[in-house]
Amino acid sequence: NLSREALEPYWLPFTSNRAFKAKPRLFVGAKGMFYTTAEGRQLLDGMAGLWCVNAGHGPERITAAIREQAGHLDYVSSFQMSHPLAFKLAGRIAGLTPEGLDRVFFVNSGSEAVDTALKIARAYHRARGDAGRTRLIGRAKGYHGMGFGGLSVAGIARHRRDFGPLLGDVDHLPHTYNREHQAFSRGQPDWGAHLADELEAIAQIHDPSTIAAVIVEPVTGSGGVLPPPKGYLERLRAICDRHGILLIFDEVITGYGRLGAPFGSTALGVTPDIITCAKGMTNGAVPMGGVIASTKVYDAFMTGPDEAVELMHGYTYSGHPLACAAGLAAIDVYEELDLFARTARIAGYWEAQAHSLQGEPHIVDIRNIGLLAAIEIAPKPGEPGSRSAAAGNLCYEAGVLVRTAGDALVLSPPLIITEAEIDRIFDTIRQAVRALA
Ligand code: PMP
Repeated sequence: NLSREALEPYWLPFTSNRAFKAKPRLFVGAKGMFYTTAEGRQLLDGMAGLWCVNAGHGPERITAAIREQAGHLDYVSSFQMSHPLAFKLAGRIAGLTPEGLDRVFFVNSGSEAVDTALKIARAYHRARGDAGRTRLIGRAKGYHGMGFGGLSVAGIARHRRDFGPLLGDVDHLPHTYNREHQAFSRGQPDWGAHLADELEAIAQIHDPSTIAAVIVEPVTGSGGVLPPPKGYLERLRAICDRHGILLIFDEVITGYGRLGAPFGSTALGVTPDIITCAKGMTNGAVPMGGVIASTKVYDAFMTGPDEAVELMHGYTYSGHPLACAAGLAAIDVYEELDLFARTARIAGYWEAQAHSLQGEPHIVDIRNIGLLAAIEIAPKPGEPGSRSAAAGNLCYEAGVLVRTAGDALVLSPPLIITEAEIDRIFDTIRQAVRALA
């Protein structure tokens, strides 16, 4: 019995999340574009789960691969041992990444990928005799997971506030959002590339030779879907090159096709030194993350400063056989459906429909890139987030799952979405904002 009533006694032990208790959203199944709720409703998934189910829920090829692997080799450590699928998957991933980024370290989540990437950056400099390069630079509104490393470089104050002290020696670039300049922006806005020059200013304050790495999301995701201004990432790359600073792209959201190319870096034409990924790696079916680096960076990390002493990093479930099986099957499915190119093709329709909301009540900004969008809603005075939350609830009641981030409704649907489903998402939002007080 999967009803709300039957499960009620277990809610307290499982979750004390206030929003869930007040209005439980209980899901019992999922296929393709839809979730099935405990009440038996079909819910169009406008978020690909949580930016991860890129090929839609439950492709048979992925579930079959997981099932088969589970009966075959359930577990092997990644310390001094491995299994063939880990090698195969690393090779397949290297085939998707920008030229030169061909070494992969497996982890289990985006948060672990970020912490690993930051450790790789510091270890790289140390291995090259540059142990003083430890400073890390993040960006305001950035999200990099919930580990202490990721929180330290992240730029969402509410996430950081209650957990300090975080890592020291961290600075933050300004975010690139300005409603006036960005309002109703399609793709990459024209304004704001100069904000990358703040990196040069930070470098001059601290001495550039103290900075290990800069980490940014190519498109700020959880902070509200903020596409990078044209030229911004190129300028960051140039400043990093000038000073020997490593550039890390956190591609946990933009990796695996979201922008209409395998990775955000390939879509946007800027190559970092390190990429983090997770989510779409297994189409959300099994937890997995990865860090992809150039040979030069990765080998320095692996060797460490002292050839005789192996550098220590890794997790019990790094390269887990089930995750590797799911990861390989996910790439098979993406390729079979030609999903990344399809995303590039349908992104124009997505953009047009998103912008058809312009002029509807309370909407003050619409942003989109690839199959991502944010609909910014004017808050009620003194009540930040209340109108967007109400709009999100109305969409849910109407059978469409969207996410709220501050005053924005955020959308990141499975990449298999059809034009009719795109219409339904934006029509539902249209009706929701019209019904708002
Ligand atoms: N980095 C980015 C850019 C993310 O969007 C996320 C998750 N939303 C993470 C890191 C953390 O990933 P996880 O929740 O798998 O730890």
